[in-house]
Amino acid sequence: MRTVHVSEYPAIQHRHRDGEIVTVRLRRQEGDLRATCAGCDTVFVYRKPASSAVTHYKSPLLPPVKGNWDTGEDEH
Ligand SMILES: [Zn+2]
Repeated sequence: MRTVHVSEYPAIQHRHRDGEIVTVRLRRQEGDLRATCAGCDTVFVYRKPASSAVTHYKSPLLPPVKGNWDTGEDEH
């Protein structure tokens, strides 16, 4: 049985060799969120994406950065 790390939750969709899309649901097991698919002999182990701890919006507290940015709007 092979192990695949996934970052989706709570359901993992994957394709079998015959082209069928199979959905398995993660369950907490041995301290991890795991889903086992007997159809393709695979254990899916949830791993939180590394970027998820980072905020993806700009902080309003930071002042705008001044600089000679290339905005593509230069007049010639
Ligand atoms: Zn499968």
